[in-house]
Amino acid sequence: MRQLLKNALVLRDARGAPTAENIMIDDDRIAGFTLADSVPGYAPVDLSGRLVIPGFVQAHVHFCQALLRGAADDMALLDWLRTRVWPLEAAHDEESVYLSALLAGTELLAGGATCACVMESVRYADAAARAIDELGLRAVFGKVMMDHTDTPPELGGLPDSFIETTRQTLDESLRLLKKWHGAAAGRISYAFMPRGVLTTSEDLLLELRKLSDEYGALVHTHACETWPESRLVERRRGQTEIKYLRRLGLANERLLLAHCVCVDDEDIHILSKHRVNVVSCPLANLKLASGIAPLEKLADAGITLSLGSDGPPCNNTLDMFTEMRFASLLQKGALGQPTAMPAPQVFEIATLGGAKALGLDGDIGSLAVGKKADLAALDWQQPQTAPQKPCVAGLVYSGGAHMVTDTMVDGRFVYRHKKHVAVDTAVLRRQAEVALERLTRRFSPG
Ligand SMILES: [Zn+2]
Repeated sequence: MRQLLKNALVLRDARGAPTAENIMIDDDRIAGFTLADSVPGYAPVDLSGRLVIPGFVQAHVHFCQALLRGAADDMALLDWLRTRVWPLEAAHDEESVYLSALLAGTELLAGGATCACVMESVRYADAAARAIDELGLRAVFGKVMMDHTDTPPELGGLPDSFIETTRQTLDESLRLLKKWHGAAAGRISYAFMPRGVLTTSEDLLLELRKLSDEYGALVHTHACETWPESRLVERRRGQTEIKYLRRLGLANERLLLAHCVCVDDEDIHILSKHRVNVVSCPLANLKLASGIAPLEKLADAGITLSLGSDGPPCNNTLDMFTEMRFASLLQKGALGQPTAMPAPQVFEIATLGGAKALGLDGDIGSLAVGKKADLAALDWQQPQTAPQKPCVAGLVYSGGAHMVTDTMVDGRFVYRHKKHVAVDTAVLRRQAEVALERLTRRFSPG
C-alpha cells in the first residue's frame, strides 16, 4: 500500500527542526519526503495540525507487571521484589500474562512508543508475544531467566514456580527464540534475558555468551541498580557487576544493561571500551530510591544510551515523555548544571539511542528514506505547550502522552484518532480487573 501523510509538521530526528513536508510511504517503509500536495498512486492521509515524530523506543519494560500497577508502592527494591512483585508475577497464568501484555502495549502505543524491549516473566512468554503481534507493536522480547542455584538468602528465595534448572531455562529460551525471532514479518525478535547476576548461575551466563554469538541475539539484563544489591554482587563475586560480566566475556555491543546507577569510573571505562549499551530508567530509579544514573558521564564516555520505564509497579506509567523530562532534569539537578542533558540529546536517546541499543538503527529511530514508517502524530494544541511553536525542547519539557493522536508501525496505523485498532480498551480493562482478582487470590505475601 502507498500512502502520503500530508499537512503535518515533520520532525525527522532530534537534530532537525519541524518542517512542513509530506511523507511518502511504500508499504512499511518511508519512500520519500515531498512538498507536493498529491503524488500519483499514493493514497492521501490527512494529518492537519499534527506534529509527526519518530516513534519512541521503550528500551526496558516488563509487560508481565502491567497488571501489578500500584501493587508495591513506597517500598525498597529487595523487599519490593521478595514480598510483592515476585509472588504476584509467580501467580500469573497464561491469560493474565496475555492481558498484562495488552495493557502495557496499548499504553505504549497511546504514548507514541512504537518499539519496546520487553523482559517477560519466567512462564507463558508466548502469550506476551501473541499480544505484541496482535497489537502491531515492534518488540525485542525474551523470557526472564533465573536458575535458582545461586540465589542469596538476602533475597529470601524465589517462588516455586520461578525455579528452573539451567538446562530448563536455556531450552525454553531456545524454543522461544526459534519460534519468535524474526516473527511478524520481522517486527518481533528474541533476546536472552537473565534477570541479573544475583539470580543466575555462572554456568548460565557463560552459556548465554556462546548462544548470543551463535544466534546474533542480544543479551539484556539488570545491572548496578541499587547499592545494596551491587555490594551483594561484589561480596559474592569479588568484583563489581560490570567487571564480572566482562570476565565472563559478555561485555560487547550485544549486551544491553538496564539501570547502571551504581557504576564507578572504571566500570564506565569498561562499558565504553566494550561498546556495551545502557538503558536508563530514571523514574523507576527515583521511586525505588535507587539513585541517579550518571548519564552525562556515560554519554561523555561515548556509551550508547536509551530510556525505559521498567515496570508499572515501580514507575507507575510507561510514558516516554516523562522519562525524557526526568532524564534531563535529574542530570541538571544532580550536577548543578542547567546545561546538562539538553533536550535534543535526551530526545535522541529516547528514539535513535533505543534503536541503536537494540541493533535496529538501520530501520528505526528516525524518519529517513528507506527506514521503517514507525512514527507518532501529536496534537500540539495543548494548554501545556501554548504559545510555543512545535520544537524538540517543547516535546521534552512540556510534552506528554496525552498529545499523541495516532501511532504507526511498519506503515500501518495501530492507534488512530486516539483509538487502538486491535483492542477495545474498555473491554480490556474489565478483563484485566478480573485477572488481577484471580492473581490476588493466589498471592501469598512473603
Ligand atoms: Zn526491570
